[in-house]
Amino acid sequence: MTDHATPTKSVIFEERADQIHVTGNDAAGAPNVFDLACNRPSLAGAVSQRACTFCGSRVVLYPIADALHLVHGPIGCAAYTWDIRGAMSSGPELHRLSFSTDLQERDVIFGGETKLYKALIELIDRHEPKAAFVYSTCIVGIIGDDIQAVCKKVSEEKGIPVLPVQSEGFKGNKRAGYEAACKAMAQLAGTADVSDVSPLSINILGDFNLAGEIWVIRDYYERMGLQVVATITGDGRVDAIRRCHGAALNLVQCNGATQPFAKIMEEKYGQPYIRVSYFGIEDMAQALYDVAEFFKDKDPAIMDRARKIVAEEVGGLLPRLREFRKDLEGKKAAIYVGGAFKAFSLIKAFRHLGMQVALVGSQTGTKEDYEELAAICDPGTIIVDDSNPLELSAFIKEKDVDIFVGGVKERPIAYKLGIGFCDHNHERKECLEGFVGMYNFALEVHRTVMSPVWRFMPRRVAKAAATAHCTEATI
Ligand code: SF4
Repeated sequence: MTDHATPTKSVIFEERADQIHVTGNDAAGAPNVFDLACNRPSLAGAVSQRACTFCGSRVVLYPIADALHLVHGPIGCAAYTWDIRGAMSSGPELHRLSFSTDLQERDVIFGGETKLYKALIELIDRHEPKAAFVYSTCIVGIIGDDIQAVCKKVSEEKGIPVLPVQSEGFKGNKRAGYEAACKAMAQLAGTADVSDVSPLSINILGDFNLAGEIWVIRDYYERMGLQVVATITGDGRVDAIRRCHGAALNLVQCNGATQPFAKIMEEKYGQPYIRVSYFGIEDMAQALYDVAEFFKDKDPAIMDRARKIVAEEVGGLLPRLREFRKDLEGKKAAIYVGGAFKAFSLIKAFRHLGMQVALVGSQTGTKEDYEELAAICDPGTIIVDDSNPLELSAFIKEKDVDIFVGGVKERPIAYKLGIGFCDHNHERKECLEGFVGMYNFALEVHRTVMSPVWRFMPRRVAKAAATAHCTEATI
């Protein structure tokens, strides 16, 4: 770890030291050199916050609502990822069911291919899905079931795409699961007619329609005059993905999860993509402007329409944010999210509320992501890759933060430490995207940070007593 007087060094495993960076200057006053290690296997014994490869693939594909999702493995893998995102659908709800071949000892010894074949036939007959995804888990990789052959056979028999997802949990980290999911999904693209797709058309990638967010974003783009061909994968449909190669542009949010798909589409169909974020005021507006810029030659009035949307939405929002800021000014936040790209937007969103980000980390960031993060963070910010509860708890205490933004695995850390928490991950039920999402985020941050309950935490009580003692002594 770059030396920056961090008193919690004792909790950092020696092997993980190069996955932690502190922005600013070292003890001698020279700027800390950025050289953060990332995208490598989690350290055994460090209880990573990261999910497995299989889980990575499941989070990407799960929101495709009219597909069958069959987990080939022991029941635990399916239970672990059941309803993994609060991904809403405007129609079918097949994705909300979790199917598993429930491999037992006997299947592990004699092979699970027959069981997989029977399960697929039974489920396809019963639910009539548009396509089926079959997820390979650790044990399937170990016993060597040929899921590709079984999928091919069932696909021929039933006349629907049956797609193997090579996502054995041990294969790599969560990012490897994103790649496996994108490879499976790419087999669907390019298989349907695109003759009625407009030249002013887009695919929305990397949004999973938590709390209906994709409907908010889709509305902005449609108000700009664009045709949304496919939403990948929030509120996703197999038929839409099959013709997504006809869209003029791919918009990639959550770049870790769906950028591999955008890259495949670029190589295969010459379909360009741009990276966007729908969190926070600046990034949401920038997403609309970037898209308008792309289409301005085909539609010269599109930029005016984008500006009108931003003006309408932001006009009413800023005065309401100023109200929250009065209370939140000077408070500190910690961020630990799946992909680093979301962290950029969160840092900017906290600045709108007058708050400082003291710790930021992710499960799957790349070197470039972290470099960009280091450049925008205040001096003294801890940047961490693939962290664990021990480190996160120590950093939060050291920085004395007021709110932790993360997901299901970070929630207990925040509450055990007696600080506010905001769920910015799969499980949340609040729309946090778009301009309306910025308001919801500010409201939630304000409610949790300003809750009077935190002042009764022993750590806070001791701090308040020490401060009072010092004040008395001074007097
Ligand atoms: S690590 Fe392996 S066994 Fe565990 S949930 Fe992932 S796929 Fe299943």
